[in-house]
Amino acid sequence: MGKTTGFMEYDRIEEGYAPVAERLKNYKEFVIALTPEQAKIQGARCMDCGTPFCNNGCPVNNIIPDFNDLVYRGDWENAIKVLHSTNNFPEFTGRICPAPCEAACVANINGDAIGIKSIEHAIIDRAWDEGWVTAQKPKLLTGKKVAVVGAGPAGLAAAQQLVRAGHDVTLFEKNDQVGGLLRYGIPDFKLNKSNIDRRVEQLVAEGLKIRTGVLVAGKDGLGKDSKVTNWAKETIAPETLMAEFDAVLLTGGAEQSRDLPVPGRDLKGVHFAMEFLPQQNKATAEGKYKGQIRADGKHVVVIGGGDTGSDCVGTSNRHGATSVTQLELMPMPPEQENKPLVWPYWPLKLRTSSSHQEGCEREFAIGTKEFIGEKGQLTAVKTVRLEWKDGKMTEVAGSEQIIKADLVFLAMGFVSPVQTVLDAFGVDKDQRGNVKATTDLIGGYATSVPKLFAAGDIRRGQSLVVWAIREGRQAARAVDEFLVGASQLPR
Ligand SMILES: Cc1cc2nc3c(=O)[nH]c(=O)nc-3n(C[C@H](O)[C@H](O)[C@H](O)COP(=O)(O)OP(=O)(O)OC[C@H]3O[C@@H](n4cnc5c(N)ncnc54)[C@H](O)[C@@H]3O)c2cc1C
Ligand code: SF4
Repeated sequence: MGKTTGFMEYDRIEEGYAPVAERLKNYKEFVIALTPEQAKIQGARCMDCGTPFCNNGCPVNNIIPDFNDLVYRGDWENAIKVLHSTNNFPEFTGRICPAPCEAACVANINGDAIGIKSIEHAIIDRAWDEGWVTAQKPKLLTGKKVAVVGAGPAGLAAAQQLVRAGHDVTLFEKNDQVGGLLRYGIPDFKLNKSNIDRRVEQLVAEGLKIRTGVLVAGKDGLGKDSKVTNWAKETIAPETLMAEFDAVLLTGGAEQSRDLPVPGRDLKGVHFAMEFLPQQNKATAEGKYKGQIRADGKHVVVIGGGDTGSDCVGTSNRHGATSVTQLELMPMPPEQENKPLVWPYWPLKLRTSSSHQEGCEREFAIGTKEFIGEKGQLTAVKTVRLEWKDGKMTEVAGSEQIIKADLVFLAMGFVSPVQTVLDAFGVDKDQRGNVKATTDLIGGYATSVPKLFAAGDIRRGQSLVVWAIREGRQAARAVDEFLVGASQLPR
C-alpha cells in the first residue's frame, strides 16, 4: 500500500471525454486518459485490502492492489509486468470493460471505487509508448500443431498462450481481419482498431500463423450460414482440421442474433444491429462500404437496451440521424443501487453510456407489437406499455403508441453460436445451444469430441471481452496439458 492515508485524502478522478459536438464529427476514441499524476493519485487511494474483492470481481483476476501500488510509486515498468501476468490484452479491457472489479472494490461500499480501469488504461498505453510490449518468443518448441478457429479475444488470448508454450499454432478466421467483435462489433470510437493491429504484430512476431478469409465449415454446407460477418474466400472442413492438427480449439463466438418475429419484420429498414455496426467499422477502416446502411436524416429506433444497442445509438448519431429512440423491454432500474444489499456483486442500476449522452430518447417497459410500412418500406413502429403483473410482463390495455421510424436496429442480444458450425464438428451442445464443456480444473474446456476444445462466447454464450480473455487463457492451459501431459501456463 503506497499511501496509508490516500483513501481519505483523495477523491476518485474520472477519465474525461471530448465535447459531444466535437466527437460526433468522427469515429475517433474520445476518452481522455488519466495523466501520470492523476493515475498516481488513483493508485494512492487503494487500501491494499487484506481480502482484495476487486481481484475476485475481475474475471481475469488482475492483481489490482499490486499494480495500483506500483503506479503510486512511479514504477510503471513493473506495473505492466503485473498486469500482463493475468491479462494478455489490457488495452482492450482498459477501454471497454464494464469494470466489475470496481463494483467489488471495498472503497465502493460507502464511497467511490478506486478508478481501477482508468489505471489499467494508463499503464498499458504508457507501456506501448515506452516500447515495453515486446514479442516473447518460446524457448522450446514442442512440435505439436494446434488450430484455433475464430480470432476474437478468446481465440487471440488462447493462441498467444499456446505459442508461448512452444506449440505450432494456426489461427483461422472467416473475416478479412482478426479481432472478432473487437474488430467488427465494437465501434472505433470505443476501441480504435490500431490497438488490435499492434497486438497482432506482437503475436505474429512470437510465431503465430494467421489465416484470415477462411471459413471452417462442413463439406455438406454445415456452417456456411455463418453470415453475421463473413468475408471468407476459402472453406476448410472440420475433418481436415481434425486430421492435420493435434488439437483444435473452437472460439467462434455466439453469432446468432435474437430476432423479433412481429408483423412487418421483413420490411426494408429493419436490420439486426450486427448488420449495421460491422459495415461502419469497415467503412471507417477502408473509407467507404458499398451499399452501407446509413442513418443520415432518418428517424432511428433501436430495440434493446444493452451495449450493442448503445453502440447503434452512437453510430446513428455520428451518421447524423434526425432522431434516435432506444426501447427497452424491462422497467427502468434504480439510478442508485442498494449497496449494502448488492456489494460486491455487479449491481442492477440505470447505466447511461457516453452514446446515450450524445443524444437519445430512452423508453423502458415497452414492447414492440408491429413494424408498419408503406410499399415495403418501414415508416413506424407500433409499441405497447408493459407492466409487471403476477410475476410476468403484461401489456397495459390502451397504451399502444406509434413511433415514426425509417430504420430499426434489433439489438436484443445473441441466442447462441451458429448451430450448423457446431453440427459440422458433431459436438454436444448444452440446453442453450452452446458448445458443451465445463471450466473444471481437470478436463475443463474439452468437448464431447476427442482433441476438440471450446472457449469464449461459443462455450459460455454472449458475454464480455474480459471473460473471453479468461476462457482463452484457461483453455490454452487445458490444451497444453492435453498435448504434453503438464502445463506451466497460468489459469
Ligand atoms: C456490438 C457489440 C458491442 C459489445 N461491446 C462490449 C463492450 O463494450 N465490452 C465488453 O466487454 N464486451 C462487449 N461485447 C461483447 C464482446 O465483444 C464479446 O463477448 C467477445 O468479443 C466474445 O469473444 P469471443 O472471442 O468468444 O468471440 P467473438 O469476438 O465473437 O469472435 C469470434 C470470431 O470467430 C470467427 N468465426 C466464427 N465462426 C467461424 C468459422 N466457422 N470459421 C472461421 N471463423 C469463425 C468470427 O468471425 C469472429 O471473428 C460487445 C458485443 C457486441 C456485439
Ligand atoms: S479487466 Fe475489467 S474487471 Fe479486470 S481489472 Fe480491468 S477493468 Fe477491472
